[in-house]
Amino acid sequence: MDKLKILHMYPAMLDLYGDSGNVEILGYRCKMRGIELEVHKHNLGDKETDFTDFDIIYLGGGADFEQQLLADDLLSLKDSIKAAYDNGVYFLMICGGYQLMGQYYKDSNGEKITGLGLFDYYTVASTDKRCRCIGNIVIETETDGGKYKVIGFENHGGQTKNVSSPFGRVLAGNGNEFECSAEGYTERNVTATYLHGPLLSKNPKLADHIISYCMERKTGEKYVPAPINDKLEEDCRRQLLERLLTK
Ligand code: GLN
Repeated sequence: MDKLKILHMYPAMLDLYGDSGNVEILGYRCKMRGIELEVHKHNLGDKETDFTDFDIIYLGGGADFEQQLLADDLLSLKDSIKAAYDNGVYFLMICGGYQLMGQYYKDSNGEKITGLGLFDYYTVASTDKRCRCIGNIVIETETDGGKYKVIGFENHGGQTKNVSSPFGRVLAGNGNEFECSAEGYTERNVTATYLHGPLLSKNPKLADHIISYCMERKTGEKYVPAPINDKLEEDCRRQLLERLLTK
């Protein structure tokens, strides 16, 4: 049986709006293709984690308080995380996790949290705590050569700037900043986004894209995931897109 390994970072601290569901969706969609997804966890203070040993590194979203608590631990892991990124390990990061991989996050108390600095973007939140981007969001992405509408829910005070390669173009909602046209950040082995949902339950094609990337990296051969009956998911998507994109 084929096997992929995912590292779920700080699962107890970064899990807003069902973000852990992304790991479950990956597990389910792997299983339907005869792939075992082995789930490992990195918790605060763990010293032994070798990040290069995984196919996927996953971080969910979290409140300013949790981000503040884990920032030093994350910084202490920089060399191993950077090596994994350089090796082509896939990074999936949601909201608070997305912010922490950039240069810094200045939170709603005005406190600067040093990011891992893997990417050039940085994030600043208003000190007016009511000033947040909240609501459903739809963006258009380029996934596997075609356009794909990605649906989710955003709730962030942070405004992310200096994003060189956004994940998608905003069709409804805010994105990286208030009323922004760009959302998230992407590279060949990176999806960073503000979209909770959980992201992958609402956007199964994106889950399959990640699985294909990992299988191809592992085997060196083209991987086309066998189709799954996604009728329920597709019906939900149709409803949501109609509701959110019809003004
Ligand atoms: N605390 C961050 C912000 O408010 C991230 C929130 C989140 O992960 N939803 O911007």
